Amino acid sequence: MTKVCILGSMGWMPAAGQQTACALVETRGQLMLLDAGTGVANLAMCQDILARYDRLSILLSHYHLDHVCGLMYLKRFAAHMRVDVYGPGRPAYERTTADYLCDVLQESMYSSGPHGFAREVNYVDYDGKDFMVGDVRVGVRVQRHSAPSFELRIEDDVVYATDTCFDRENWGNVAPAKLLLHECWQLNSADPRHTSVESLSSGLPRDTFGKVVLVHLNPSWNETERAAVERKARQRGFALAHDGQTIAI
Ligand SMILES: [Zn+2]
Ligand SMILES: [Zn+2]
Repeated sequence: MTKVCILGSMGWMPAAGQQTACALVETRGQLMLLDAGTGVANLAMCQDILARYDRLSILLSHYHLDHVCGLMYLKRFAAHMRVDVYGPGRPAYERTTADYLCDVLQESMYSSGPHGFAREVNYVDYDGKDFMVGDVRVGVRVQRHSAPSFELRIEDDVVYATDTCFDRENWGNVAPAKLLLHECWQLNSADPRHTSVESLSSGLPRDTFGKVVLVHLNPSWNETERAAVERKARQRGFALAHDGQTIAI
């Protein structure tokens, strides 16, 4: 069984008690984080799971700060672990994952530095190609966003597509999966770097995903806007994610 715990369901900044991009995935003896936004702080809810592992793999969709700033919280949770951070690297970017994150986490900005928040920290580029974490296959697909971002597929269990516009033609022949975590930033297509619930509702094929949960929600929504998005989502059976939500698949 694969277990997913949503730790950060917002994009950009925490709002309404919800942190930014992060989900914990436990599958086939591996423990993984999808992105490492401020939602890493919610690992406080998962101490019993963390205690059972000595290795944590972090799969980054891209390097935007709302997806990586939680790396500096890991010292509280992962001091006993080996942490492997997988990021896009080349050719999508000019520099490596280590280059970017060692800049962001340099000691003048974060006292533990880029290698000090766990027993061992490794930075790995997936270079736009599928890769293995132990026996678990991670599929990678490039997306359209303001900077290159990547869809991440954990076997045929979880597909994580965040920080992307929705291209209907990319989803026609996509392999089925049990769970889709897809970003939802707006009601209708206003911002071409992101996805609207309307485009997802009309363009996502039926029966490809057992469950669709919307993440990277927009912290700028007021209650009326959020309710409108939620109503539209429900019509297709999609749910808006909340922090602490656990999904067993
Ligand atoms: Zn983001
Ligand atoms: Zn982004």
